[in-house]
Amino acid sequence: MTLLRKRIAKLLRRIGWLDFDLVAVMHREHPGPGALKSDEMVIVIDGEVRKWACLLCPGGCGSAISLSLNPQRRPRWAVLTDFWTRPTVSPSVHQTNACGCHFWIKDGVVEWCPGGHPAAATELP
Ligand SMILES: [Zn+2]
Repeated sequence: MTLLRKRIAKLLRRIGWLDFDLVAVMHREHPGPGALKSDEMVIVIDGEVRKWACLLCPGGCGSAISLSLNPQRRPRWAVLTDFWTRPTVSPSVHQTNACGCHFWIKDGVVEWCPGGHPAAATELP
């Protein structure tokens, strides 16, 4: 069912009826190197428990990001998904490695923090 919604969501995006950068997909296993797609966030679930949210850094640097969803750990994030499985992530994602990307994900759309997208700031409208 989620898979079908994801397909429809991507179709609606193609014809301009829906806007998002990322849709969420549920996996049992942590995605291996190279398994992540640039427009998908993989939510790793174990039984009913959401463990990780994995995505490629949208800054174009290509780093794989794993956000811990485990409430027992710090730091941790919360991911909500809407009908079209578009994820909303809180708090913001701040890469502390070389790229320094800093962004929010709201309804599947990447919103850059001021100065958080150094490589491509001029691309923004
Ligand atoms: Zn980055």
